[in-house]
Amino acid sequence: MTSVILKPHKEESLKRFHPWVFSGAIARVILDAKHQADTPQEGELVAVYSASHEPLGVGHWQIGSIAVRILAFGVEQLPADFWNERIHAAYQMRVTLGLKDTFRLVHGEGDFLPGLIVDIYAETAVIQAHSIGMHLYRHDIAKAIINNVPQVKNIYYKSDDTLPFKAPVEGEKTCWLIPPTDTQNEEFWSSENGLSFRIDWLKGQKTGFFVDQRENRALVERYAANKDVLNMFCYTGGFSLYALRGGAKTVDSVDVSQKAIDLVNINVARNFPDAHNHTAVTADAFEYLSAQKAAGRTFDLIILDPPAFAKHRDAIKNALRGYQRINAKAIEMIRPGGILFTFSCSQAVDKEAFRLAVFSAAAQVGRKVRILHQLHQPQDHPINIYHPEGEYLKGLVLYVE
Ligand code: SAH
Repeated sequence: MTSVILKPHKEESLKRFHPWVFSGAIARVILDAKHQADTPQEGELVAVYSASHEPLGVGHWQIGSIAVRILAFGVEQLPADFWNERIHAAYQMRVTLGLKDTFRLVHGEGDFLPGLIVDIYAETAVIQAHSIGMHLYRHDIAKAIINNVPQVKNIYYKSDDTLPFKAPVEGEKTCWLIPPTDTQNEEFWSSENGLSFRIDWLKGQKTGFFVDQRENRALVERYAANKDVLNMFCYTGGFSLYALRGGAKTVDSVDVSQKAIDLVNINVARNFPDAHNHTAVTADAFEYLSAQKAAGRTFDLIILDPPAFAKHRDAIKNALRGYQRINAKAIEMIRPGGILFTFSCSQAVDKEAFRLAVFSAAAQVGRKVRILHQLHQPQDHPINIYHPEGEYLKGLVLYVE
């Protein structure tokens, strides 16, 4: 196997189980005999050593500033049973949490599997690889899931949008790895806290559903009774269904994607066939809020769950302006005594920065605002304590006078 030797004193973070080796920490690379090029292949397994040749771990090589993502610490080879053991451990944790039907089985570094996401929807697991290394092991990962997670019968692989473009990739990036036996069935459903959702990983965003809002949706249900609710950035209507079950007077669901709005309507019809108090609108959030404000409309409860405004560190400033703008527009439209659920899923924007953006929005509008809850990602999206970068979802529930 190719060996990666670090510069002196660069082993400290690996000894504390932080799984990334930055390219600047590397003194030299000793390629194994089979190499023709003068660098390791993207996705290749490499063994990492300190300057004094102490084994630090084995991981996937990557082209870029993160050069190696460690899979197993303190070893020179990947243990033979590695995938089985890791997937088993991830599943045992979800069993302990009492999760079934819809949940995240693997959350990258949070489950000591950097570059890998696996979401479970009833009988189907959807795998998403964020590194070529994980892509190369997709069949072993699929086998380990089938062996360890009794509810899973089918495996879909969806990595078209997530693999780096720098290297050519063998094999398909999006396909069934283990197809369902009933090939006629093109509709897949899964349930969350007793509500049914149609999950469309073929056409939908991410793995087909946002598993990370389960608990925050349940909190909306608690506050929804008799309220006029606006669910902005609704995607397939997660928060809307909980608000309807919580006894909301009306629910308006808004998303810029027509495909998302079609799914919201399908999900509402399935769970609340007699509901006449739900409206779904395809619109841009900023335009919709401006138009509603001009029409003099207000709401008792607004949910704002936008896509990541900052995908990279250099976009933080603009992102914070975006969060301030959208939150100011929402706070303006909340009736006195109303509630705002506001979220950011930008990893690059930490919770203090997000809170400051929401503070600026409240101050701009001049309303009295108090924080009722501070929200975060759920337990099946664990944060490895040695890898704080894994914390991404944050939310505030505000009481607006
Ligand atoms: N709250 C959702 C997840 C939201 S994901 C849930 O619980 O499942 C973010 C959503 O914002 C996506 O569905 C995307 O289509 C939508 N979106 C992106 N830009 C938008 C815009 N400018 N206006 C309205 N919706 C937008």
